[in-house]
Amino acid sequence: MARKPLMSGNWKMNLNHYEAIQLVQKLSYALSKDDVEAVDISIHPPFTDLRSVQTVLESENIPISLGAQNCHAEEKGAFTGEISPLMLEKLYVTYVICGHSERRQMFGETNAEVNAKVKAIFKANMIPIMACGETLEQREAGQMEAHIVEQVTEGLAGVKADQVASMVIAYEPIWAIGTGVTATAEDAQEVCALVRATIGELYDSSTAESVRIQYGGSVKPSSAPELMSQPDIDGALIGGASLSAEDFAGCIQYRLAQ
Ligand code: PEP
Repeated sequence: MARKPLMSGNWKMNLNHYEAIQLVQKLSYALSKDDVEAVDISIHPPFTDLRSVQTVLESENIPISLGAQNCHAEEKGAFTGEISPLMLEKLYVTYVICGHSERRQMFGETNAEVNAKVKAIFKANMIPIMACGETLEQREAGQMEAHIVEQVTEGLAGVKADQVASMVIAYEPIWAIGTGVTATAEDAQEVCALVRATIGELYDSSTAESVRIQYGGSVKPSSAPELMSQPDIDGALIGGASLSAEDFAGCIQYRLAQ
């Protein structure tokens, strides 16, 4: 089954809303009609930029989906500083990243919290991009496989098969995020295949064939073509390179180099 690739730009805590508007406009000039037809594209600005970016995407008819980097699992309440999935949905957010390794490592997010967010994102009619990935220590200790299976299994607990089929899982080895070190295409393929096989075990083969699996970790225009040629890699979650219109467009245009 053909899965349409999804190329996502995670801007992290970068760019104010003026800078965000400029980057979206530059990106739209850098992309051709063929590019936006061949792949789905999402950008994930900081919360404070969402309204401005949404207005530009809508008013200029730019075929890029709006994404968020995180959300709270509850719809409302006394959660100072948090953002509800319903607030994101009202801003026409399509994709929400949850369980990014920076949130797991710096803010102590657990698999159970990630699981609650996945469910809350679906409840608000958006699509989760659930991230998983191992540390270098886990990889070197031979624990990568068990760790990935655990993150995927616990992150998806109680999520229905048709929801899983429509969502996105991002495999992001922690040792490759923001380090300039990209996993080899073979390593990335091996773990993305493991994620798909895990979903096949937890659900069924048609769910496993439908779910889109991204690779993330220092993806650049030079590494994107080989990564994207792997059978189980259906897109990329891109941090650093998505802050440059030229580099993000270069990643999106991976097929021109294949
Ligand atoms: C990320 O933030 O998800 C990421 C993969 O970052 P980078 O591309 O900078 O490694």
